[in-house]
Amino acid sequence: MTDTSSAVADKIRCDACPVMCYIKPGAAGACDRYANHHGELVRVDPHIILERTVSHGGRLVPFQAGGDWDGKIVHGPSTFVTAIGAGTTYPDYKPAPFIVSSEVDGVDMVTVVTEGIFSYCGVKVKIDTDRYLGPETATVRAEGEAVGHVTTSEYGSQMLSLGGVHHLTGGSKKEGRVTCDTLMDLSNGKPVELTIDGGATVVVQAGHAPVVNGLTEERMRVGCGSATIGMFAKQWQGKIDEVVVVDDHITGVLSEHQAGKLLDIPDTGIKMKGRRSTPGRYFQVAEPGTGWGGTNISDPLAILGPFDPKTARPGLTMLMVSTTGEHAAYYQLDDGLRPVETEMPDALKQSVARIQENCEPALCTVLFMAGAGGSLRAGVTENPVRLTRSVKDALTRVTSGGAPVYVWPGGGITYMVDVTQMPANAFGYVPTPALVAPIEFTMRLSDYAALGGHMESVRPLSSLKDNAELLPWPRPGPIPGQGG
Ligand code: SF4
Repeated sequence: MTDTSSAVADKIRCDACPVMCYIKPGAAGACDRYANHHGELVRVDPHIILERTVSHGGRLVPFQAGGDWDGKIVHGPSTFVTAIGAGTTYPDYKPAPFIVSSEVDGVDMVTVVTEGIFSYCGVKVKIDTDRYLGPETATVRAEGEAVGHVTTSEYGSQMLSLGGVHHLTGGSKKEGRVTCDTLMDLSNGKPVELTIDGGATVVVQAGHAPVVNGLTEERMRVGCGSATIGMFAKQWQGKIDEVVVVDDHITGVLSEHQAGKLLDIPDTGIKMKGRRSTPGRYFQVAEPGTGWGGTNISDPLAILGPFDPKTARPGLTMLMVSTTGEHAAYYQLDDGLRPVETEMPDALKQSVARIQENCEPALCTVLFMAGAGGSLRAGVTENPVRLTRSVKDALTRVTSGGAPVYVWPGGGITYMVDVTQMPANAFGYVPTPALVAPIEFTMRLSDYAALGGHMESVRPLSSLKDNAELLPWPRPGPIPGQGG
């Protein structure tokens, strides 16, 4: 229930966001978050309180039932009031929907919760795959609309940056709506199909394997080609004359690599295409693609020149393998010093299996990124900059749906949160368009008073009991504000 409404005839006007819907009895507003229930404006989803149970190593504290608050702060070390379902206050100068006191280990704490409306937010997507998804800065589309771009790849993963104010508000109406839907679906853990200009189509779902051009990715690379040589050189010593680890970024060659030199592996006369970086490390052996090691090749011999007859000899053996072990082939040089593929010996099959074993499962990671350093702070304190300082001074802990967030250094309260750490369906939207996401600020009650908090709005946990739903604490680690 909220008091942010006014009635016109039998309609209620919701003023929880700038859209200001008039809502008929029995109907919901444009965002489906608020509804007119017998003339009363109600938040449709339950307000979520997380509870740690004995199975999480915590103490079970019964949710206080019945009776009016006696003025004492409720002792609730195993419960945490999230902002999910709490509602939004608009405009921001009004106190946040719930400012809830609790006592933890003898210390009076307060948690300020609100469902923030974020018009500048976005998601950073990490896709564990070697496969080429598209050129850096290429536009990423959903339903044909531009929703973001490809950014720098990182350590065996391809990265996308989606959303942000330019796509939410700076393009066409449809672009804004599709961007909002895409961000909300990804943040709520749903699968979303994205197409990349000049690149691949990929289905992304937080915590699940990516599907690239219809193929489910299984593993992320063990390392670059050079790192793979470094890791496994000793296991190849004495079993093979040459190993090439094919990689779009850094292809490794055992006999030339420092690892091979230290192990006294003799030269083989191999000749690589591409650009030699340092010994045994080659860049740009092929174009990027969805073939061997994130290159566009299906025949690895395409990256070799002719063997040097002064060094090479007939019968010389060579393993070519990709950075995931997904592709591998074994060769012997014939009398003309040409590699001929033959049956791979068991010992080498085991080394390929070892590479595969060391590759972690490929997953998609979705980090929601938003800023709480703006007007939202006014719902917490009448002097907003003090909240920012309190966060920077580590006096105030920021969480999103109870999940820990990373707050960026520098100005503002710009944070990122792993959406898989949050309870299901924690995100909503308003059609401005903007995402609605839970945010909580937890601090000592004395610090809250010192930063100019809305002390008159502080209420005990027990006052929430009628409208709240208790869910089990979804993850290990301390509850915010309890030493974590
Ligand atoms: S979009 Fe939702 S929050 Fe905004 S006014 Fe309408 S019902 Fe209220």
